[in-house]
Formats: sequence, C-alpha cells, structure tokens
Amino acid sequence: MKSAFLPLVLSLFAAPALGAEINAVASFSILGDMLSRVGGDRVAVTTIVGPNADTHVYEPKPSDAASVAGADIFFINGLGFEGWMDRFVESTGYTGQLVVASGGVATHEMDEDGEEVTDPHAWQSLTNGVLYIENIAKGLCAVDAAGCDTYTKNATAYAAELTALDATVREELEAVPTERRKVITTHDAFGYFAEAYGVTFLAPEGISTDAEPSAADVAKLIIQIRSEGVHALFVENMSDPRLVQQIADETGVKLGGELYADALSPPDGPAATYLDMFRHNVDLLIPAMEGK
Ligand SMILES: [Zn+2]
Repeated sequence: MKSAFLPLVLSLFAAPALGAEINAVASFSILGDMLSRVGGDRVAVTTIVGPNADTHVYEPKPSDAASVAGADIFFINGLGFEGWMDRFVESTGYTGQLVVASGGVATHEMDEDGEEVTDPHAWQSLTNGVLYIENIAKGLCAVDAAGCDTYTKNATAYAAELTALDATVREELEAVPTERRKVITTHDAFGYFAEAYGVTFLAPEGISTDAEPSAADVAKLIIQIRSEGVHALFVENMSDPRLVQQIADETGVKLGGELYADALSPPDGPAATYLDMFRHNVDLLIPAMEGK
C-alpha cells in the first residue's frame, strides 16, 4: 500500500491539474488571467505575483522557482516590468519556452529623472491587450500542437470581447471634454491608456514604484494640480496610498477611489479579470474627470 501510494502522489505533483495538458506560469496576475482565458481547460496556470501585489519590487520565493522549473511554458510582460526576471530565470535553471507577452507592441519612452526609459505598462490599452492574447496563443501552440485549434478559437473569442470594450471605452471617454481629461495617480502606469484614449495622467512617482519622489517633484505636481484645475485624483491597488493622500490633503481635491494599475483584485473584488479591471477603472475615471 505504502509503496504504491507515494509514486502516485509524486506524479500528481509533476503533472498538470486534472484535465489539463500543459503547465504554464505567468509572471503577474493580469497576464495570468489572459493566459487562463486563452488556455482554457487544457492549461494549468500558476501566477507568480498575485492580486494587489507590486511586480516592480517583487522578491521571488523558492516556491516560484519550483513552479517555473516544472513549467512547459513561462509568460512574462517584458519591457523591464519584472526588473528581477533575468536573475530569477537564471536561478531556476529553466530552459523551456519563455514568451514575452508584450512582443510587437509599439512602445513609448518616458522621462525618468532625466533618463529615457521604456514604459512597460502596455496592457493598459485594450488594443495592446489583443497583441498579448495573440502572443499567448502562439506560445501555447508552440508547446501543444494538439491544442492549437482550441487556443486559436479561445483567443479569437476573447480578443473580440476586448475589441468591443475598446470601442465602448473610446466612445465614453470622447464624451468627456478634453480639458477635463486629466488624472493624478500614484505612479506612471497609464501611459498607454493616455495614448490610446486621450487622457492626460500625472504622477508623483515614475514608471516604477521602486523610488520615492523628491519633495520638489511633489511640490511641482501640487502647483500643476492647482493651476490646471485637476480634480481626478486616485490611489492604486498595489502602490502605497500615503503620497496621493498627502496630495489630496494639500490640494483639497477629493480622492476618486482606487485604480487597478499593475495587478488585479482578488476574485471577490471589483477587478478580478483583465476586462473587469478595465471597465472598473473607466467607471471610476469618468465621473471624477467630470467633477461629479
Ligand atoms: Zn507599474
């Protein structure tokens, strides 16, 4: 009994979840959700940086290394979002498929303390989201040819949902007068959203959350909020809210709520999926910009 039981348990650990053919790992929650949608029942998804957690400053755990070591395919955002990734992948000894989900995105640079840095938050535009989905499907097809039809079908249906929401969001945001489309949030996570939907975002922190802004930067932002009459001010789900709270106190601008920037909410929250996250953010942004 004993000798027969142990190998069974071990083989269960090594195999994908019941019914799944492929073990896949995603670096962060938004990508994990996209991967689940494209992979469907054939793919068991493990996500490294979970809901409400900050990927910029994440420190991988031994269990993360074990997940990647046992994976058939590993999806990352790339563009420097996971600053710890190169060292981490090397430490796992992983030699399988590594897919950069943002591949093919038209990137833009941002000024970070006088240095030009690539903005990694490409998922904050739904048209970029479609590119992520195509890259995910291509990656899965490469490791599981038998499932390729399923992945392609799932990706096509999912991309259609993104494209439909993109059109709705564009229409809703266009109805807000241009001079009112200005938003303050903790860090520069919405550059692609800004570009896609014609909203200006200002942030005390740069494109990463790893450095505190200087007092002079914050003072400059407060002057800008007053002179431009910005009245949409938001905290983010995975960033320290204290700085934005301080700006709210000093300017008298009311906080508009919590935007989901770099991570989803837990399953019972308002942004449990990529699509829900997008809808939730737009539903908060519009009334705040309109001053309602
Ligand atoms: Zn970020």
